[in-house]
Amino acid sequence: MRKNIVAGNWKMNKTLQEGIALAKELNEALAEKPNCDVVICTPFIHLASVTPLVDAAKIGVGAENCADKASGAYTGEVSAEMVASTGAKYVILGHSERRAYYGETVAILEEKVKLALANGLTPIFCIGEVLEEREANKQNEVVAAQMESVFSLSPEDFSKIVLAYEPVWAIGTGKTATPEQAQEIHAFIRSIVADKYGKEIADNTSILYGGSCKPSNAKELFSNPDVDGGLIGGAALKVSDFKGIIDAFNA
Ligand code: PEP
Repeated sequence: MRKNIVAGNWKMNKTLQEGIALAKELNEALAEKPNCDVVICTPFIHLASVTPLVDAAKIGVGAENCADKASGAYTGEVSAEMVASTGAKYVILGHSERRAYYGETVAILEEKVKLALANGLTPIFCIGEVLEEREANKQNEVVAAQMESVFSLSPEDFSKIVLAYEPVWAIGTGKTATPEQAQEIHAFIRSIVADKYGKEIADNTSILYGGSCKPSNAKELFSNPDVDGGLIGGAALKVSDFKGIIDAFNA
């Protein structure tokens, strides 16, 4: 079923102690069950500590990445199975920072998505164009090419993933896509999912928006018919801001 989701991406921020404090504070702030699913994606080393601290009925925990190999001699890597063994339920895959700084290709991401699913994790699969591509009006072809990582999945597996459209020019820049820009490309993404898997699966796919989302713009972005919530970077590091975004689904 299509769900509204607000997911935080802590990136490489917070020591273990700071992360534990942030998770506890968020857990307390969500005394009432939110009107959307809430996820926090933390650095690997936080997962085993944070997962038991939060009320699983209100907050899901996820990693920000996982390896493209199942196990073995891959020094420094963390497998999907290891992530799942902490109690985490989600994993962000294909974030633009991973694509840009760590050379993650369509083929590598295809492996990661498959391993995440095989280990019972929900991938939050990110796609999005850089500024030059937007200026050249190439955003649709860019996201369509990125979707090839997940278009080899069976319909049953595809139904388990969450998509996040994140225009790279809006990530951490304070520049947000307009609600019209977000709706237009989310509708396009849903249309290519429908072409591949049919209307029912497309209608049930959650597509999040990410890129400088904050309490002041969340409601307008999320009220679009094809925007099912947000992937939140900077604003996920402050409980009042993150809660303000979650509350966009309450009003
Ligand atoms: C992100 O990195 O996924 C993101 C959306 O960051 P920010 O909200 O800080 O733009």
